[in-house]
Amino acid sequence: MTFYVFHATPMKRARVHYHSCKHCRDGQGQENQDKNGSGATGWDGPFNSRKEAEDFMARHYRFEDVGCCKYCLES
Ligand SMILES: [Zn+2]
Repeated sequence: MTFYVFHATPMKRARVHYHSCKHCRDGQGQENQDKNGSGATGWDGPFNSRKEAEDFMARHYRFEDVGCCKYCLES
């Protein structure tokens, strides 16, 4: 089980994704996205568990809108 955290600083949003999610693609995201994890948007990971990813997100991204991807983790 591998998870990634996506952040979008301008939108104050962060999400945990499962690695195979179509929005995540093992941390590569969608084609026109900034793939650099230090940019305004980007990916952190991989994490070995959902909890590890959620803990990282809570520590690093103090946004109002944080949670899990509705596509891959809340079905
Ligand atoms: Zn997802």
